[in-house]
Amino acid sequence: MKIICIGRNYAEHAKEMKADLPTEPVFFMKPDTALLKEADFYLPDFTQDLHHEIELVLKICKAGKHIEEQFAHKYYNEIGIGIDFTARDIQAKCKEKGLPWEKAKAFDNSAPIGEFASKDTLELNNINFELKINGDSEQIGNSSDLIFSFDKVIAYVSQFVSLKVGDLVYTGTPEGVGKVNIGDKLEGFMNGKKMLQLTIK
Ligand code: MG
Repeated sequence: MKIICIGRNYAEHAKEMKADLPTEPVFFMKPDTALLKEADFYLPDFTQDLHHEIELVLKICKAGKHIEEQFAHKYYNEIGIGIDFTARDIQAKCKEKGLPWEKAKAFDNSAPIGEFASKDTLELNNINFELKINGDSEQIGNSSDLIFSFDKVIAYVSQFVSLKVGDLVYTGTPEGVGKVNIGDKLEGFMNGKKMLQLTIK
């Protein structure tokens, strides 16, 4: 499986990163070794500025390429909560030099994933999600604020990369990204229900 991540998909986050609003989806990938399930996260020593990015995640249930937007909803059946961990200091250097972001984004365990809910139980353009750290709310988002909808993202990405069953699409983070520290307890919520929990070790 592979992990496809959408960047700058919430206007307020693009603003806090001092990035222009994208005119088409920005995406990058993480390998399967980035996936972290039901386990704590060990802070890697190559970064001094590891950031949390809480995101809604689509689980792909049908293989496809060149998917039309109107049919895109048939290609994912579950939505969950994940974190796109980012070594912000390394990413800043990569951006400065115009280099790829993999070193900052695709490292081992950089994609924690929590529980999923059936898509049918959700109102797709009104999903609330939240990240709490040590009990304090750090990021709050709602899918209505997506610049590119789930279906647009699927249609766009599948022009370039075939989707396969089990692939995950991290759909972007709202504003409020920030540094995590050893000892922090992270909890991810979707519509008020806790879907993910991990401690930074
Ligand atoms: Mg992200």
